[in-house]
Amino acid sequence: MPLLVMKFGGTSVADLARIENAAKKVQAEVERGYDVIVIVSAMSGETNKMVGFVEGTSKLYDAREYDAVVSSGENVTAGLMALRLQEMGVAARSWQGWQVPINTTSAHSSARFISIPRENIDAKFAEGFKVAVVAGFQGVSAEGRVTTLGRGGSDTTAVAFAAAFGAERCDIYTDVDGVYTTDPRITNKARKLEKIAFEEMLELASLGAKVLQTRSVELAMRYKVRLRVLSSFEDTDENSGTLVCDEDEIMESKVVSGVAYSRDEAKVTLVRVEDRPGIAAAIFGPLAEAGVNVDMIVQNISEVEVGSVKGATTDMTFSCPTNQVARAQKAMEDAVAAGTITYDGIVVDSDVAKISVVGIGMRSHAGVAATMFKALSKENVNIKVIATSEIKISVLIDRKYMELAVQALHDAFELEKV
Ligand code: ASP
Ligand code: MG
Repeated sequence: MPLLVMKFGGTSVADLARIENAAKKVQAEVERGYDVIVIVSAMSGETNKMVGFVEGTSKLYDAREYDAVVSSGENVTAGLMALRLQEMGVAARSWQGWQVPINTTSAHSSARFISIPRENIDAKFAEGFKVAVVAGFQGVSAEGRVTTLGRGGSDTTAVAFAAAFGAERCDIYTDVDGVYTTDPRITNKARKLEKIAFEEMLELASLGAKVLQTRSVELAMRYKVRLRVLSSFEDTDENSGTLVCDEDEIMESKVVSGVAYSRDEAKVTLVRVEDRPGIAAAIFGPLAEAGVNVDMIVQNISEVEVGSVKGATTDMTFSCPTNQVARAQKAMEDAVAAGTITYDGIVVDSDVAKISVVGIGMRSHAGVAATMFKALSKENVNIKVIATSEIKISVLIDRKYMELAVQALHDAFELEKV
């Protein structure tokens, strides 16, 4: 039997009527001849509510009990979905993580998969069951305790099952109808993409286009699981939504596929740090230890000048999320106090945003950066930092120009056109 994985997010199972609506989509696939593994999230809001219960009970809570509590929302929807399918005449059975079993590490609330043996679910399919409804987001450790995968983890559960069972496709049903060239709230010219490559999706996801948990895309890329993002609130067929797939499946990709942004960025410059071997390690080591997620890094050319620092100096600039600036500053002050670095001053700019253009076509096309910079210059937007990778060009700009810049770039790369 061909097999499909269908995942329904929290808004798609938010109440009994929506569970019924989702169940009808499952029934339609069964009628098309598929065995189906359904992965469900908790009803929207439930996981947050339970996190609140845990925090209201214990400040320094035991992570095992946190997982025991917050994983329960998925158990409810799995059982209800199986019941609804049974009411519709579809042979369905629910599965909690330990029953499969979904074997994970013991890292509570950020557990990783070890194995998903197929035997138990395969045996049920062999008995004539058509649907296995599996609670997303959870697993079981070697110690036999319930684990969870981290917020948004049901996407990753879905991809892991698709890989383990060799599913034809992994359909992620959510409250948007696909992946767009940029945020439709910023420009109404944003266009739904028919297909997008794994690597592009990874860049867009980690840049704040939060349709899929980043980990799920990484896993899909590794196991070449074809992922489809589509809406559970619309009539859908085989061509609905956006397919996230291997780039080989995309015949003619555009040079740029999307424009992403991230609003809460800050730029930190250490002025006149001593320029010597080991200085970058002496700066970024303590930042990493302090849990600062450094993104872009720029080091100026060395200048031989005497401030309070003797010998050659350089300016070192990096970006990080706005809410980590205080931590970054403290880490740098501690490093100065410990005598491992010296500088003349720290300059923080917390009003910046990052805009990126992403596309696998960039690998083989020149001139993307020039087009990007020209479009920004035409709008008088000053670029503060530039960073590039093989398939992405990112700039930091003043936050107040963020929307304008996204619109200008969307126009410049003609992303509204197919
Ligand atoms: N219910 C979990 C959460 O809200 C997992 C998920 O929905 O993916 O994070
Ligand atoms: Mg989600």
